[in-house]
Amino acid sequence: MIYCDSPSLQEWSAPPQHAPCATLTQLRAGGILLSNAIELADWDSNPAWPIVCDECWLPSCSACGLARIIRLDGQILWFPPRIEDFDESLHDWLGGDWRFLSEAVLIPESAWTDLHRLCPRLPAAHRFPRAVRRDLMRLWQGDMPSAVDLERPYQLEGWPAGTAIASEPLDLDETSMVVRSLCDWGQAEPEVAIAGRFVRIEDWGGQVNTVYFDVQPPQEWRAFGVGLENGFVVATEWVFQSGTADPENSDTEGPPKIEECYDPNRHRNGPNGVRPRFPR
Ligand SMILES: [Zn+2]
Repeated sequence: MIYCDSPSLQEWSAPPQHAPCATLTQLRAGGILLSNAIELADWDSNPAWPIVCDECWLPSCSACGLARIIRLDGQILWFPPRIEDFDESLHDWLGGDWRFLSEAVLIPESAWTDLHRLCPRLPAAHRFPRAVRRDLMRLWQGDMPSAVDLERPYQLEGWPAGTAIASEPLDLDETSMVVRSLCDWGQAEPEVAIAGRFVRIEDWGGQVNTVYFDVQPPQEWRAFGVGLENGFVVATEWVFQSGTADPENSDTEGPPKIEECYDPNRHRNGPNGVRPRFPR
């Protein structure tokens, strides 16, 4: 997970012949192009479609950089979701020809709000949905070493059997109980919104429970923060710390409506089979 407290905007001029606007704005964070055209991105879909095709200018044509964007306490998090979390209509539309965001990006809400003031077409932080339990499970699951073997549905019967040889500071039986309770929590009500934020383990200062596996090459899994409620460890250096949600904001401003001007079938599933090009 990339942490970026200085995301940046960059204006660029689109080729004049078909451009819907004279000037578009890119959003970059941590070396990743999050959006190539803030003004034309589809921010309200889930997943969001922040990269637009640079020929027909439709996010639905590019089908790349797709991201789930969520709000934590004082943080905005972009991350690559799992395709199975979305309904069949999205699978059909994407048809296997798509790419999620390459890596999660964590941005302080204050930095995001600064960008929003500079570029009001960038959605305000409160426009994004609160994180739900499933999000936390996906983030946790996304960084598990292969030896952990907690695929969905989580195969906890007898876990951790086989290659797990030790854990600390909790022993394997205790670890198994905590992992089971985390999985039960996530699976019981996956759509329930959660309050909390990610903190670096070094800043939290507590102990992380680590499981060791006898595989080649050897693997270890930093699983959870000991003593924390739902203290999922993500990307080996971040731990989720439960907290109190900010008040919800009811702003319902919508995204730009580019469909009124551009044919959504021009490229994707279009008759000429033209494939879009994407900026890197
Ligand atoms: Zn296109």
